[in-house]
Amino acid sequence: MLFDTHAHLNATQYSEDVEEVIRRAKDEGVSYIVVVGFDRPTILRAIELTEQYDFIYAAVGWHPVDAIDMTHEDLQMIEQLAAHPKVVALGEMGLDYYWDKSPKDVQKQVFRKQIALAKKVKLPIIIHNREATADILEILKEENAKEVGGIMHCFTGSVEVAKQCIDMNFYLSFGGPVTFKNAKKPKEVAKEIPLEHLLIETDCPYLTPHPFRGKRNEPSYVKYVAEAIAELKGVSFEEVAMKTCENAKKLFGINC
Ligand SMILES: [Zn+2]
Repeated sequence: MLFDTHAHLNATQYSEDVEEVIRRAKDEGVSYIVVVGFDRPTILRAIELTEQYDFIYAAVGWHPVDAIDMTHEDLQMIEQLAAHPKVVALGEMGLDYYWDKSPKDVQKQVFRKQIALAKKVKLPIIIHNREATADILEILKEENAKEVGGIMHCFTGSVEVAKQCIDMNFYLSFGGPVTFKNAKKPKEVAKEIPLEHLLIETDCPYLTPHPFRGKRNEPSYVKYVAEAIAELKGVSFEEVAMKTCENAKKLFGINC
């Protein structure tokens, strides 16, 4: 009963063997996967995968790094696809101040437009944050994102920031970094924050958990994330798997 809430099986890294990767995930107890789109080709591929596999769902959104490329037609496409029965969230969206391809003001505008759309179509949002915590929190507050809530994807912030996100109806999703020896903050948050606010993900093909760090990531490795959280909390693996799965199903409105 594992739920990988953030996977990029729509990325070209899987063009050779996506079927095998998905079969391995099933074999390792992954019951649900949300494939996250971040530009036009990956959004369309995510939808395709949901139509091929009953346990795969999609999120559709525009990545902040490429904010400058998003056209009006792209936003319209996202709005249309939001009505697709297997689209369960909008995203990923947010701010990324590590890369400078898209100026900050363009990123903010594209982020705000997608939050407004999520409120219109009543879907939760998946937030990508890189070195932009203060601005993300400000925009979420100003746009009243609390109304839809969502996920802080690959959360690596402090306990303090975690609490602010929870107050705005956001879940904190942990990925590979919580398994890394030197990842102090994610370990602290995983320990402190109750399971009812937590989710797990791979963000594959990136952020591969220990012991496969450095290799291509895949959904079957989400169990290492659950194991790390279980160890930090002193609870069973099954409890983490079950509770995070329940949380995700509730957020995404999945009833099967
Ligand atoms: Zn991602």
